[in-house]
Amino acid sequence: MACLRDVSRVEIRPTVAALPGYGPVPVGPQAFKLSSNENPYPPLPSVVAALADAAVDVNRYPDIVATELSQALGETLGVAPEQVVPTAGSVSALFHAVNTFCDPGDEVVLPWRSFEAYPTAIALAGATAVPVPLADDGRLDMPGLAAAVTDRTRMVMVCSPNNPTGPAVHADELDALLDAVPDDVVVLYDEAYLEFVRDPQAVDGIDVLAEHSNVVLLRTFSKAYGLAGLRVGYAVARPRLATAVRKTVTPFEVSSLAQRAAVASLAATDELTRRVEGIVAERTRLVTGLRDQGWTIPDTQANFVWFPLGERTAAFADRCTSAGLLVRPFSSEGVRVTVGEPEANDMLLELTATI
Ligand SMILES: *Cc1c(COP(=O)(O)O)cnc(C)c1O
Repeated sequence: MACLRDVSRVEIRPTVAALPGYGPVPVGPQAFKLSSNENPYPPLPSVVAALADAAVDVNRYPDIVATELSQALGETLGVAPEQVVPTAGSVSALFHAVNTFCDPGDEVVLPWRSFEAYPTAIALAGATAVPVPLADDGRLDMPGLAAAVTDRTRMVMVCSPNNPTGPAVHADELDALLDAVPDDVVVLYDEAYLEFVRDPQAVDGIDVLAEHSNVVLLRTFSKAYGLAGLRVGYAVARPRLATAVRKTVTPFEVSSLAQRAAVASLAATDELTRRVEGIVAERTRLVTGLRDQGWTIPDTQANFVWFPLGERTAAFADRCTSAGLLVRPFSSEGVRVTVGEPEANDMLLELTATI
């Protein structure tokens, strides 16, 4: 009888068995969710209208190559549409890029602590992660990343601004890395928080792409554009690399709703930019307030702040949760808190004044 058969003998790939897995996100009734770097504002009316229009067509598959979105992005970014690869969030673009360029045994150099999805993507490709610790101020150690490259390295990951610490990579630092890394090694430049960057020394990946053929950019509509729930992001690269990444994309992974909402969002960039300005102003208020209270906060160019708390991490996170603020602790390293609506930021400042 099939139902009595022992299925526990099915082998799970050791790589998969060793992955941490995902748990449910705790959400309390009064809580402000400051744990996932989401945009606190609901979609613009024009975006909701585009979603409503698209809803009546969901009996059809989406455009498999997201033609309209690729064109709109190409125009916005000043690149050819064929250089853009829309994906289900840029996490998906990350996985596809690693699968496109890395074989089992290849090495991928990455900053650490950085975005949690990196080690998973590397492990699933069978590649070997070579983590390079951050500098003390939460900045990427760019010379350290370059120095970790060997003849087995296929990819170097750069996260700017770095999640969870916040600083952005400077143009001269990235230039030096790109000069040091052989041009057959892919430099994956993750710009998930690009729109929040105000550091004049920071660099826009599109400018770098014009000069270097081994750069792959990752961008997303989840953060500044406020479409995290729809899952839409993209990779940008030279046509040959973009064509290769596109082959690895799961068929139809960007839904028709996501495609339409992203196109509508690009048409509303001015309104969305004003919202981003508001979040940046709140970030400045928060960082200034926290530093005035005596907290050490690295220079954040994203929509979150980082508290490097070491062993005090869990206690701090518990205090926040009790106060109705959901934050993101990282074991005994620190706590990342998203810049939320002004009311949530006020609550955080009130709390931190008492800790
Ligand atoms: C949030 C984030 C992403 C993108 O997430 P998606 O929702 O999948 O687009 C990518 N990289 C970093 C560093 C992030 O923090």
